[in-house]
Parts: sequence; C-alpha cells; structure tokens
Amino acid sequence: VDAQPVVEVEDLRVTYARSVQALRGVSLWVPRKGVVAVLGNNGAGKSTLLRAISGTLGQEGGTVTDGSIRLAGRPVERYGPSAIVAEGVLHAPEGRRVFGTLTVEDNLRAGGTAARSRRARAEAGERVYALFPVLYERRRQRAGLLSGGEQQMLAIGRALMGSPRVLLLDEPSLGLAPLLTERIAEVITEINREGTAVVLVEQNAAMALRVADLAFVLEAGRVSLQGRAADLAGTTEVRDRYLGMG
Ligand code: ATP
Repeated sequence: VDAQPVVEVEDLRVTYARSVQALRGVSLWVPRKGVVAVLGNNGAGKSTLLRAISGTLGQEGGTVTDGSIRLAGRPVERYGPSAIVAEGVLHAPEGRRVFGTLTVEDNLRAGGTAARSRRARAEAGERVYALFPVLYERRRQRAGLLSGGEQQMLAIGRALMGSPRVLLLDEPSLGLAPLLTERIAEVITEINREGTAVVLVEQNAAMALRVADLAFVLEAGRVSLQGRAADLAGTTEVRDRYLGMG
C-alpha cells in the first residue's frame, strides 16, 4: 500500500497578470520521501509550479485561479511563503539567489531561521558543510565571490538549513560543468536518503531521470507525460525530445 503522498497537486491553474495562463490544469504528486523530476522546455510552466507550491507566486504577479495543493493531506494553495516554510517546504529558486555581500556563513544562517531550534540549526549547518566541503572552506568569504557552481551549492545549502520535509529545486545544474552536475546529483540522492522528498525541475533530463523515482513532463502548462523515471527514460518521445538521442 502506498502511503499518502507528501505533496498532491490537483488540476492546478495559474495565471500571471497581463499574460496567458501558465498552468492549465496540472495534476501530480510527490511520494513521501520520493524524488520527482519535472521536465519540459522553456516556458512550459516548471518554475511556476514550484512557485505555486512554495507560496511565492504572488511575488511574481501570479495567482492560483483553480485547483488544489495539499501537503500531507492539508490544503495549502492559499498559504503565503512563510506558512509554507513552516510546513517544512523549502524552495531553492532558479538563478542562485544568494546574498552576494554576505559571507557564506551568514547566507546559511539566514536560511537557518526556519529551523526549529538552535540545536537543529547547528546540526543542519554541519550537514550542509559535510555535503559541500567547499562551502566550509569558503565560509568567511562573501557569497558574491564564489563561482557559479559554488553559489548554486550555497542556494541548496541555504534551503537545507531549514531541515526540509520537501525540497523544491529549480534548475540546480543550470550552467554547471558535467562534474559539478554529477556532484549535485549525488547530493540530491544523499539528501533524499536522509528522508527529504525532492521536487527537481531540470532542463538536464538525463541527470533528473537518473536521480528521480517519478517524472512528469510539462508542455504548455499541462502534463504531457508521466511515469516512473526509468520507464520514461526509455520512451521514444522522451529520448527524442529531452535526452537528445533523436
Ligand atoms: P524556464 O525554464 O524558462 O523558467 P519554465 O518551464 O520554468 O521555463 P515558467 O517560467 O513557469 O516556465 O513560465 C511559464 C509561463 O508563464 C511562460 O509563458 C512565461 O512567460 C510565463 N511567466 C513566468 N513568469 C512570469 C511572470 N513573473 N510574469 C508573467 N509571466 C510569467
């Protein structure tokens, strides 16, 4: 028997001000402690989906017009960002949004304000440094001086400081060399092994399908394909259109 999914999205519709509908009825779910890949071309609605789950749509001028999002059964589609964080859902948005003038340490500390206790924060910090030793080496440097890959790690590390039940990752491999992408993939697997469910939005379909259990392909605001990641990786459509094996 399947336990209740930690995230359930049903028939979700999202509109941005002065723009077309970005999500046109998306349904998907994230198994407890699972890894779900969300694939699709530019503009398919992947980032919009993560913003809807994390309650940050409003900051981008977007609104949920219909449908539901449930966290462990509880409807949250009207929650704001801090209420979602309090539910244990942390979002590492696209574009390495770190605080450039703060040190690595202070960036992580800022992420740790969501932690339940000082003890939990200290443990989360040790865990982040264990996952990303380079962040420990550079803990006193300004985040703005880090390489792109290091800033990406910091963005993920900051989300991990909240000891998330669900981690939402938007394009963590964007602009990274293959070796660093591989490291990010390993870290996702490791985070998941420790009990965190992960929603992984990726243009790098090969990497995402390797680490995910389930995958959903978005096309123009709708789910066009879904299934076990390993099965999807074997379909002609996914191979031709997303794995560049056509
Ligand atoms: P990308 O990888 O390019 O971010 P995506 O799959 O994440 O693509 P979204 O960014 O979710 O797609 O965009 C879905 C649709 O919503 C697109 O038509 C896009 O132009 C529109 N959109 C996204 N963000 C905004 C915004 N802040 N204001 C208005 N329209 C937006």
